[in-house]
Amino acid sequence: MTAARAYLDWNASAPLLPEARSAMVAAFECVGNPSSVHAEGRRARGIVETARAQIARLVGARPEQVILTSGATEANATVLAGEWHALFVSAMEHDSILAGASASPARSSALDAGADGVVKLASVGRAAEAVANRTDRQLVCLQLANNETGVIQPVAEAVALARQARMHVLCDATQAVGRLEVDFAALGVDYMTFSSHKIGGPKGAGALVVRDDAPLNPLIGGGGQERRQRAGTENVAAIAGFGAAAEAACQRLADWRALASRRDALEARLREVAPDAVILGAASSRLPNTSLVAWPGRRAETLLAMLDLGGVAVSSGAACASGKVTESHVLRAMGCAPDVAGSAIRISIGPETSDREIEMLVAAFEAINRRPARAA
Ligand code: PMP
Repeated sequence: MTAARAYLDWNASAPLLPEARSAMVAAFECVGNPSSVHAEGRRARGIVETARAQIARLVGARPEQVILTSGATEANATVLAGEWHALFVSAMEHDSILAGASASPARSSALDAGADGVVKLASVGRAAEAVANRTDRQLVCLQLANNETGVIQPVAEAVALARQARMHVLCDATQAVGRLEVDFAALGVDYMTFSSHKIGGPKGAGALVVRDDAPLNPLIGGGGQERRQRAGTENVAAIAGFGAAAEAACQRLADWRALASRRDALEARLREVAPDAVILGAASSRLPNTSLVAWPGRRAETLLAMLDLGGVAVSSGAACASGKVTESHVLRAMGCAPDVAGSAIRISIGPETSDREIEMLVAAFEAINRRPARAA
């Protein structure tokens, strides 16, 4: 018998929903290529288009605005590979945005963050003023919710500022979609990106939602798939799973909303058993499922390893590459002291998280707290 585990790393990847699994299993039976005109091809096309409509509905977009990709990373890279003259990028963006910005020949400037984990709107305002009279293409990158802290960013307000200067806006909504109500049309952004596996779909599928008049240069050329915006035969089964997860997510928003009080109770328990622990970003509006807990005097990688041995899966602030935790650029942007940033672990739950899993976490914290800080 395998030992019980507590999976508290939903921001890294959420468990596959049964609806997504069934849709994928059914799609595996479909032999056709969606680009083929025969009955088998049309069946595959039907699966892709049903999923596209489900994904569009989840974010308040029209199906024809949705380009299916291999994930948020590819979607972000596609937008950033466009012909931009200047980029204004929140300092707390995901690495896929930061990497795309540094690969771009465009001049890139950082939008500052406050200690509360919220981007400073004044820095967006300054960017808009600086480019107000320019006619070339400018892009602002601002995520909807941060993957480490869960802090929700003022995207609608940033869009209002950016519009005055005719700047385009890319919103990485990967951590927000399915967890908060997200409305592409109401938010007014030009581009929105997200990944299937954060909402209970399979890994390796995602979407780029594009406003009708926004410029886009395809990253991958070849066949005419995705209205010539993204070549390559569609991953029909993954797309089917993504669509089914999106449909289920529409029904699960209330369950996600209800998670906030469980998350608050969990944080209160952790503070009880580990009085030195600090919750980062707690004064700001956050995703209902995310707690970034710093434990000054301890090391995140040691805490991760001890929790893992105790059966609890969490992650460090930033996803750690092959077990090595690097300093989090998000916490650096928030001005966190190195002993705070270096001790931060991210706990992220979901509607199926059980009380038993939370108790395992609390018990593991209690056990670690009994050890001298040096040892953990
Ligand atoms: N943006 C954000 C905010 C994310 O959290 C992630 C995944 N951690 C990504 C983009 C990239 O998603 P994927 O790895 O599925 O391409």
